[in-house]
Amino acid sequence: MAVHFHEEDLPAGVLAEGPVAVDTEAMGLHPGRDRLCLVQISDGRGDEHLVRFGPDSRFDAPNLKAVLGDPHRLKLYHFARFDLAVMRAYLGVMAEPVYCTKTASRLVRTYTDRHGLKELVKELLGVDVSKQQQSSDWGAPELSDAQKDYAASDVRYLHQLKEKLDERLTREGRWPLAQACFDFLPHRAMLDLAGWPEVDIFAHV
Ligand code: MN
Repeated sequence: MAVHFHEEDLPAGVLAEGPVAVDTEAMGLHPGRDRLCLVQISDGRGDEHLVRFGPDSRFDAPNLKAVLGDPHRLKLYHFARFDLAVMRAYLGVMAEPVYCTKTASRLVRTYTDRHGLKELVKELLGVDVSKQQQSSDWGAPELSDAQKDYAASDVRYLHQLKEKLDERLTREGRWPLAQACFDFLPHRAMLDLAGWPEVDIFAHV
C-alpha cells in the first residue's frame, strides 16, 4: 500500500482491470474558473496514484485520459458532479460511466443529512479520516506530505463504500433511481459548465 506521485500524466499500466476511484483537487470549487491541480486515482487494490498538473500545464495526459475515457471502466466518485465538470473543462474528457457515493448515500441514508465522505467512511466502514487539508493550496510548487496523504485518502475508501452502498440500494429497492441519477451526472456537469450551476432545471419556479 503506497501513494505514488506523478507529474502531468499517469504512467502506463499501473492500474489493474475494473472500476477505478477518482477524485480531483483544484484551486477552488468553480470548475470553469479554478484550475485543475491534481487527479487522484486508485484501482482499489491498496495503491493510490496522484497526477499533478502545473500552472502552465497543457493537460496533455494520454494515459490518464485513456483510463478516464474508457467506456468499459466504471469510475467511482464522491460528489461526481464537480470532478466530472473540472476534468471535462481541463482534460476534455467526460469520465463516465459514473458511480457516485454521495448520490447513493442520499438515496439510502434518508435518516441523516450528513453525506460528507468523512461521515460516510466513519458510519459504513468504521474508519476515521482527516479532512484537515481539504482547503489548502493545491497549486503550490511542492505539495506537503499531509496534502498528498489527504488527497490519496479521498480515493482510498470508495471501492469499499460502493460495496456497502450497493447492499443498501438493493435492500431499499433504489437501484433504478440510483442508476438513472448516475447516468444523468455527466449532463448535470455539462449544465454547470454551460452556465446553470445553481439552477434546478426541473424546478417549477
Ligand atoms: Mn478530494
